[in-house]
Amino acid sequence: MKEVYLDYNGSSPLDPRVSEVMARAFVDCVGNAASNHAFGRRQKAVVDDAREFVATMVGGHAQGVIFTSGATEANNLALQGALTGGRDDMPRIAISAVEHASVRRAAGWLDRCGLAQLSIVPVTAGGYVDIDSLQEVVDPEVALVSVMAANSETGVLNPIAEVAEAAHAAGALFHCDATQYVGRLPLDFHDVGADLVSVSSHKIAGPSGVGALVGTRSALKKLRPLLHGGGQERGLRSGSLNVAGIVGFGVAARIAAEERVSEGIHVGKLRDRLVEGLKSRIPEVYDVGDVGRRLPNTANVRFKDVDAEALVANMDPVAVSTGSACSSGSVEPSAVLLAMNIPRDAAFESIRFSLGRFTTREDVDLAVQQAEAAVRHVRAMAGSTT
Ligand code: PMP
Repeated sequence: MKEVYLDYNGSSPLDPRVSEVMARAFVDCVGNAASNHAFGRRQKAVVDDAREFVATMVGGHAQGVIFTSGATEANNLALQGALTGGRDDMPRIAISAVEHASVRRAAGWLDRCGLAQLSIVPVTAGGYVDIDSLQEVVDPEVALVSVMAANSETGVLNPIAEVAEAAHAAGALFHCDATQYVGRLPLDFHDVGADLVSVSSHKIAGPSGVGALVGTRSALKKLRPLLHGGGQERGLRSGSLNVAGIVGFGVAARIAAEERVSEGIHVGKLRDRLVEGLKSRIPEVYDVGDVGRRLPNTANVRFKDVDAEALVANMDPVAVSTGSACSSGSVEPSAVLLAMNIPRDAAFESIRFSLGRFTTREDVDLAVQQAEAAVRHVRAMAGSTT
C-alpha cells in the first residue's frame, strides 16, 4: 500500500522548490557570512534576502529576525533571554497550560532556578487560553507572557491579540510561539501586538534545524543571549550562520506567505473530507478541541475504546501521531488534552491527523480506509463489540 504522510505538524516534507535552491546554495556557499571579503559579502546578501522573507511572513522587520536552530531555541531565547537579566525583584512569567515543551520546560527551569516565578494560565474545554484567567494572573510583576498562536496537537487557535493587550496593559512583553500558525494562516506581528515571535523552518516545508525569533527593536534590546561568542545576530545568537539552511528557510517563508491562504482553503477541504469519512465509516468518532477555531490542516479525533498507540501502529503505512509521551518508562497521555480537562482514558484514545501542501484526496481516502480497518482490529482485539 502507498505510504500516506499525515504528520505535517510533526514536520513537513521539504518543498522541491526549496531543495532546489538549497542544492545550489550548498555548492555556492563559500566563505563565512560574517567575513568582510567578496565571498563573505555574498553569503551575507543571501542571508539578508532570507531575513526579508521571514520578516514578511510574520509581518515584522528584517532587522528584528534572529536566526536560530529552530523554534525550540527561539522559545528558549525568548524566555531565558528575557528573564536572566539579573533583576533585583523576582519577576513572574505567565504561560498557557498548552504550550510546547520548549516553552513549558524553559519556564519550569527558570522557576526552579529562582529566576522567575511561573504562573500557568488554564485553557477552556475547547483548548484555547481562558482570557479571564489570564487577566487575573497578569499584573505588573509579570515580565513576560508566552502564549502560542496555534496548538500543535489540536490546531486550536488562541486569542493572541487579546493576550497581547492584557500583557501590555500590565507592562509585560508578549512572546508568541507561532510555529504551527505562520505557514497556514496570515500573521501580522504588529496588528497582533506581539513583541517576540518564534518560527521554525521544517513546519513550513523548509529544512530542519533552522528557525528564528523575530522581535521588535525594544523587545530584542531586553534579551540576553543564550550563546556567547562572535556576536552574530545582533549579539543574540553567536555562531557562524547555517547559510544553506537559512536560504532554504527563506524560500519556504516566501512560498508560505504567497500561498498559505489558498493552500489553507484547499487543505481545509481535504481535512473536512477526512473527518467526514472517519465519522461516516467508523462508529463513535469524536472531535477533540473547538473545531470552530482551529488551523485548517489539523484534526484531533477520538476513537472511543481504541488505544491510540495501538491504532497508530496498525495504521502503518499511514503516518499519524498521538500526543502521548513516554515519561520514566510509562506512557503518559497528552498534557495538552489533560489541560483541556479531557479524561485520561479519552486522552489515550485521541489521534492527530495533520495535512499539508502535498496531501491529496487519494491520501485522505486511503487514510480513512486504513483507519476503519485498524479501528475494527483494535476494537476486536480489546474484545469490544462496537
Ligand atoms: N513550538 C511548537 C508549537 C511546535 O509544534 C514545535 C515542534 N514540534 C516547536 C515549538 C519546536 O520546533 P523545532 O522543531 O523547530 O525546535
